Amino acid sequence: MQQRVLLSIGSNLSDRIKNCRNAIERLNRTEDVRVVRCSSFYETSPWGRKAQPDFVNCAVELLTGLSPWQMLGLVKSIEKELGRTEGERWSPRPIDLDIILWEDKIIDHEKLKVPHPLMQKRRFVLVPLAEIAPDWIDPLTGKTIRELLKACKDTEKTRKVSNP
Ligand code: AMP
Repeated sequence: MQQRVLLSIGSNLSDRIKNCRNAIERLNRTEDVRVVRCSSFYETSPWGRKAQPDFVNCAVELLTGLSPWQMLGLVKSIEKELGRTEGERWSPRPIDLDIILWEDKIIDHEKLKVPHPLMQKRRFVLVPLAEIAPDWIDPLTGKTIRELLKACKDTEKTRKVSNP
């Protein structure tokens, strides 16, 4: 059965847009994964640890027959292929892929939490998401992404730098 999934993608090392596009291409090349929508690319201020380069972030909607755990394995392998090393938390990275929403599923496991627990606190996640899936309902709050963005107190920069 094909399920709808939203991922957030970010990069703050070397050619950031190229890194994100590369990750999207790899997702789309995977059997049983189809990228059906892609947001614009946004330059955003780093979150958490400030002393690092700005990020580029985007969001994609997928249709997939994979399970959430298989998807987690896939995003980790793409991160590795694109040069991600196990570093300090919140350090610069060529690529970061997070599973944000999976249909209306709630997963609360130490190694996989969906909806992504920091989603509603981060403009850099919500702005691209709101572009491609404004009416998607967060199963934890019952609010749409558009409503979560309106209520989000984060004021950090999210500046559109490229079309999808
Ligand atoms: P990060 O530094 O953001 O790439 O964190 C990666 C770790 O977060 C992975 O080892 C995952 O096991 C864990 N994790 C928990 N929930 C999620 C999620 N929704 N999407 C991706 N990684 C997750």
